[in-house]
Amino acid sequence: MKCSKCGRDAVYHAKYEGRYYCHKHFNELVESKVKQTVRKYHLIERGERIAVGVSGGKDSVVLLHLLAKLRKKLPFELVAITIDEGIAGYRPPSVEVAKRNAEILGIEHRIYSFKEYFGFSLDETVEIMGSFERGERVGACSYCGVWRRWLLNYAALDVGADKLAVGHNLDDEAQVFLMNIMRGDIARLGRTGPYYEVIHEGLVPRIKPLREVPEKEIVLYTLLNDIEVDLEECPYAVEAFRAEIRDWVNDMEEKHPGTKYQILRSYDKMYPLLAKAYAKRDLGRCKICGQPTNGEICKACQFKLKVQEKAKEKGLTFRVE
Ligand SMILES: [Zn+2]
Ligand SMILES: [Zn+2]
Repeated sequence: MKCSKCGRDAVYHAKYEGRYYCHKHFNELVESKVKQTVRKYHLIERGERIAVGVSGGKDSVVLLHLLAKLRKKLPFELVAITIDEGIAGYRPPSVEVAKRNAEILGIEHRIYSFKEYFGFSLDETVEIMGSFERGERVGACSYCGVWRRWLLNYAALDVGADKLAVGHNLDDEAQVFLMNIMRGDIARLGRTGPYYEVIHEGLVPRIKPLREVPEKEIVLYTLLNDIEVDLEECPYAVEAFRAEIRDWVNDMEEKHPGTKYQILRSYDKMYPLLAKAYAKRDLGRCKICGQPTNGEICKACQFKLKVQEKAKEKGLTFRVE
């Protein structure tokens, strides 16, 4: 097939709009989606310092490349942040991938590790918490998720960033939207969205410049442009419900091209109302770490205390701060 724009050989068929793209116009397609998302919601203002959470996986690495490109038109500063959770065999190579990409792009790169800030790597946490006993069986992913969120915010503050860019793509957004609907957790949808209704001091606003880019296009972008990414999946990642939703949405997209965009549009139309109803207006500060939180002690500190306690109980001697 030929490119719908220039007639050269096509490398991609965007079924949701019935068009074909050559390499050059495919790049433009992806890049313009990011530019439009940033413009539409004023995600980045001229001269701002933007931290990018880069895991080394395809989404965050492509995000870094696309923001580096966008920076040439809309001047702003970039700094790459990698969280090292401490997962043997998985994290070390991806940290290297993140590092090499930042280097190629000439972007400052900083690494923050669980071990350094919580006293335990994720591997150690899993070992200490054992099988995550009943009632506590939230699994490695919830510890990891809470700590990663905390540390990313800490890191973003530490590097003096105005915003924190994360690599969520269209598929992620559609999946999360549906998951929250199916769990009846509408409030959550009012707290993250295309933009922020309320900005809390001490909580660096998260922006998602890739939210209009399908995962498929991100993968193709790395391949066509020889971008090095780490394709390894986290060994702890076993969120079954999410995987079911993903497969189902992919199936619907196949049968009805454009479904993912329609889900996103629905979310975006509901978001202003949801945010009005559910955005948290007044957060306190954690008594231990000082980060914004609902209660007295934030979830990250609660987890840290729990792991410390358990380590003591088991007589394990990990470095505890
Ligand atoms: Zn073309
Ligand atoms: Zn805390």
